[in-house]
Amino acid sequence: MRSTAHHADVIIIGAGIAGLSAAHLLTGAGLGVRVLEAEPRVGGRLATDEVDGFRLDRLGPLLCTSWPELTGTPGLGAPELRQFAPGVLVHSEGRRHLTGDIRSARGALRSARTRSSAPWVHRAPRTPRALRGSAPSGAPFSGAAGSAQGVYGHELGAPGRGGGRGGVVTGAIDRARLGAALHRLALAPEARLLARPERSAAEALAGVGLPGRTVEGILRPLLAALLSDPALTTSSRSADLALRDYARGGLCVPAGGSAALPELLAAALPPDTVRTGVHVTAADITSVHTKEHGELGCRSLLLATGAGAAAELLPGLRVPSFHPVTVLHHTASAAPPTGRSLVLDGDRSGPVAYTSVMSEVDPSRAPEGRALITSTVLGTPPPDLDRSVRAHLAALYGVATDGWELLAAHHDPEAVPAMEAPHDPRRPVRVLAGLYVCGDHRDTSTVRGALHSGRRAAEAILTDLGVPGTHGGSLPRAA
Ligand SMILES: Cc1cc2nc3c(=O)[nH]c(=O)nc-3n(C[C@H](O)[C@H](O)[C@H](O)COP(=O)(O)OP(=O)(O)OC[C@H]3O[C@@H](n4cnc5c(N)ncnc54)[C@H](O)[C@@H]3O)c2cc1C
Repeated sequence: MRSTAHHADVIIIGAGIAGLSAAHLLTGAGLGVRVLEAEPRVGGRLATDEVDGFRLDRLGPLLCTSWPELTGTPGLGAPELRQFAPGVLVHSEGRRHLTGDIRSARGALRSARTRSSAPWVHRAPRTPRALRGSAPSGAPFSGAAGSAQGVYGHELGAPGRGGGRGGVVTGAIDRARLGAALHRLALAPEARLLARPERSAAEALAGVGLPGRTVEGILRPLLAALLSDPALTTSSRSADLALRDYARGGLCVPAGGSAALPELLAAALPPDTVRTGVHVTAADITSVHTKEHGELGCRSLLLATGAGAAAELLPGLRVPSFHPVTVLHHTASAAPPTGRSLVLDGDRSGPVAYTSVMSEVDPSRAPEGRALITSTVLGTPPPDLDRSVRAHLAALYGVATDGWELLAAHHDPEAVPAMEAPHDPRRPVRVLAGLYVCGDHRDTSTVRGALHSGRRAAEAILTDLGVPGTHGGSLPRAA
């Protein structure tokens, strides 16, 4: 096993989180590995810029604390994560509604009893209907395919825009129903969810068996945020898995910015493993050609680029469609009064899909005395981006935003590979012996999927090279 300036056992193209996680497993098994990265820094899409003392992510990441890859990936150790408040703050018809902890019926009811202490929360009227019956076991979401009858056994409400009378997204009992459904989803094994009929998430939502105002006011904007998919064309199975991850933990961001994750991985690799500023122009199983250093030889090659770049290097690879995402960072002298909550627009009344006072979630991202507000626009952004986002944020937060300063806006037309049905969340990573491909486009289009695909690719390489065992700690397999 060797690695010299011009040869390595394994060459990995791309130092995103997928390539770096694979590099860890391979170096841990004693292989000589070279990671070639075109950009001057590692991390790929997980990039954080330092601007006037602010730490600004190019993406507005929503990670789930329940992802085993966040704590079980060799080299990552136990990254510092900053959690959002449980539940979400849904804006609808001019008011913000704190859902409380909707991950269980008990949590939802408990927060309904205490939420009157939160000044920005509109009190929901009592719902006339009592909670009836319990759901059939194992039918949390997308279970009652094509049925107008919900999982709770009552007629579905018509999907409303924000909840209808009284301007209330959903009442305490409805949230308890949602909490019970999410709790069941959290307990559902992955295999059961993947065995369900597959359609679009939007179609599955229509048969979910919860009141229309809960679906439209909470579930739809939450899923759109988790999947970066405003039209919910994503496979219902992938949507179930995303909601299950959410229900099992909650949302978080890496302390100091999302670049912390790839930086941790890169720092834990043997010196000289990663070469930045090296652009690979052509590749085959035993060699790669680079713009800067000519030809490098290898025994195995792993393409860990995004889907488009992978298909350029290896024509024939499928390129998915993508969800475009735009992230804006504003600063203000005072933080809007929403604490660590993720704010969703239940009415879809403007371009912002979700926003948060990031300096409340992770104070290390803003200098003392300044608030950092991070907002995400899904899909094609409007031409007058800052003006329309500012106006929408004024409505969502209920404060004037004219004095806010725009620190940065990043648009990525290929931010997130689409996961339309039928979607295989475990696309093969082995093209043939000696040639492998990983990245979020081979798995789920998330940080979790990228990490998991890197692990699968490394395991395939080790098997083909006859290198025994895994190394550096084991990742709990998804239940
Ligand atoms: C705006 C935005 C919002 C997102 N929101 C979320 C979210 O909320 N939650 C979530 O989990 N995920 C989110 N994602 C997705 C997440 O960032 C990705 O799934 C993950 O970072 C993909 O990692 P990767 O290693 O597969 O690919 P990448 O990060 O794309 O890494 C590929 C690397 O390959 C390099 N490369 C490409 N071509 C070459 C070449 N020819 N030679 C050398 N190097 C090359 C690239 O420079 C890059 O560094 C978001 C992404 C974006 C852009």
